[in-house]
Amino acid sequence: MNADARPLPEFPVWPQFGDEERTGLARALEQGQWWRMGGSEVDTFDREFADHHGAAQSLAVTNGTHALELALQVLGVGVGTEVIVPAFTFISSSQAAQRLGAVAVPVDVTPDTYCIDLAAVEAAITPRTRAIMPVHMAGHFADMDGLAKLSEASGVPLLQDAAHAHGAEWRGRRVGELASLAAFSFQNGKLMTAGEGGAVVFPEGEKYAEMYQEAFLRHSCGRPRTDRRYLHGTSGSNFRMNEFSAAVLRAQLSRLASQIDTRELRAPLLSGLLAEIPGVVPQARDERVTRDPHYMMMFRIPGIDEFKRNELVDKLMERGLPAFAAFRAIYRSQGFWETAAPELTVDELAARCPNTEAIYKDCIWLHHRTLLGTEGQMHEIAEIVADTLAAA
Ligand SMILES: *Cc1c(COP(=O)(O)O)cnc(C)c1O
Repeated sequence: MNADARPLPEFPVWPQFGDEERTGLARALEQGQWWRMGGSEVDTFDREFADHHGAAQSLAVTNGTHALELALQVLGVGVGTEVIVPAFTFISSSQAAQRLGAVAVPVDVTPDTYCIDLAAVEAAITPRTRAIMPVHMAGHFADMDGLAKLSEASGVPLLQDAAHAHGAEWRGRRVGELASLAAFSFQNGKLMTAGEGGAVVFPEGEKYAEMYQEAFLRHSCGRPRTDRRYLHGTSGSNFRMNEFSAAVLRAQLSRLASQIDTRELRAPLLSGLLAEIPGVVPQARDERVTRDPHYMMMFRIPGIDEFKRNELVDKLMERGLPAFAAFRAIYRSQGFWETAAPELTVDELAARCPNTEAIYKDCIWLHHRTLLGTEGQMHEIAEIVADTLAAA
């Protein structure tokens, strides 16, 4: 069949919005106060977002990168400390640590889940390690049980980079119930969004309640909530979310669960279909993941080179698929080396991260809006991938 004659698939758009966002925006507007100290949208969103994730508290901030930075800071990360991050992630994971003057130490991911590798983390711990950052890649989890044990044994806290993991569950436990801080992003492409935005969630416990208090101060220029005398007890910056964003996010949160239900139906179907295509290996899901929000549909084409992979992505896009090349290994970007980086060369890091080296060249991802499409469209996607790959 002539591919050109075939209409491009029409997947649902992203972001999605409706009357909930419209009323929310009007509500925020009519409050007459548009910052969190004067209005109630951010406070209410914090309550709702914490409850949704089984957390004691949530603190909305300007974006996900700031959420990571703030969480790391309250964990004691700063100059002279190290943070272990996966080498395969979006660069914010390491940038957040580096902005605090800490050394970001990239370690390898597993070849199947693309999440941080437990043994690699263990090998990278030094007396300076102050935090371990598992990134829930595309909504999947690393071995969270193994990481929790390692954290307890080593005394190094975990910080979940949950930028892809709104609504995710590990063995029935939500992100806020995993006994560590978690940072979320609400950037335009994320699973719920206000264009930009982020949040740190804090689990139950006195220790975490204190961290929340510190984070609140630091995210508001070190100023207590009720201060009228410019008493800046701690240092900080302005990471406050505005009222409009929170109003939109409350509407987005109300839709999250049903969207995950749809993706939890479509993703296994599509993954199964992709797995039947010779040469294609979809991202694997640890069987202890009980709810996967599916931020991306990721798959590898082991053995393909980076150039061919990029060409393939272009061809998939021409056929109407929102397809993208995977993240680069973080140590293969100039920016990584501009600030605190390990005393190792790129080649030395690459030798330590063989899975990352392969994945960043052979992996492709599809936007999650495809997974809100019809069952028929999952077959269509698999056909396009199969045809395009066969033609290449
Ligand atoms: C999007 C993202 C972030 C950062 O979020 P922003 O809101 O864009 O600052 C952090 N980590 C990962 C893995 C991300 O994908």
